[in-house]
Amino acid sequence: MTKALIIITGASSGIGAATARLLSSQGHPLLLLARRLDRLQALNLPNTLCKAVDITDRAALLAAVQEAETQFGPADGIINNAGMMLLGEMSKQNPAEWDSMFDINVKGLLNGIHAVLAGMVARKHGTIINISSIAGRKTFPSHVAYCGSKFAVHAISENLREEVAGSDVRVITIAPGAVETELLSHTTDEAIKAGYEEWKDGMGGVLAATDIAQAISYAYHQPQNVCVREIVLAATRQP
Ligand code: NDP
Repeated sequence: MTKALIIITGASSGIGAATARLLSSQGHPLLLLARRLDRLQALNLPNTLCKAVDITDRAALLAAVQEAETQFGPADGIINNAGMMLLGEMSKQNPAEWDSMFDINVKGLLNGIHAVLAGMVARKHGTIINISSIAGRKTFPSHVAYCGSKFAVHAISENLREEVAGSDVRVITIAPGAVETELLSHTTDEAIKAGYEEWKDGMGGVLAATDIAQAISYAYHQPQNVCVREIVLAATRQP
């Protein structure tokens, strides 16, 4: 049977790239989005459209979805995964950093939902998977703006789930603990960055991006009448 199109934002590295590899190996056509097109193309996956899209650009995101749907048929899933973590203490942090996090982690995620939701509701079929964080459930030092953006992802997901449940559209939140990816590299405060690395080492290892990909695949591949509302997963020793 032909598998349905799934869209993954932020597929050029980390969790998004691992999820793209896994879902592709399971036979899904994919639309992969990120700003670094070369990194999407380097995944070299079959039945895959790669587009350089900044998810804060609502029109570009929508156009890419429409192009993929023309090629592969209606999108049955979207993994709203693209995100940015810029840790900082509020008294010192450049406001441009929380602007970026809210633009990408919150408004970009809403753009992803917007690009597919009307079609899913009309077809009464589809799955929206939002990648939040354990930092969307509890707070950590130097995480004020990042936690704010991820608590928002939980609220958006839960409220959207209630809104579209009657249309048989599933909304799922995946909330990982620390995962080894490029996420920390964008933090500009070197002392906070070093402290976070030490904290991760102290746990004797963090999760791999493939661990999160497995959780995403598990949730997506449940029967359509089963909605795994939320998965929180972290390294066993993570506090
Ligand atoms: P990476 O930094 O490895 O990946 C982030 C991805 O997001 C990249 O593909 C990047 O692509 C993309 N991205 C960032 N900004 C934009 C944008 N404006 N438009 C389009 N794509 C964008 O980190 P992770 O894989 O760890 O992060 C994936 C998600 O997982 C994030 O939402 C993150 O908050 C969440 N998460 C991660 C955890 C961790 O410990 N790693 C823990 C909990 C949650 P490009 O730069 O090419 O645009």
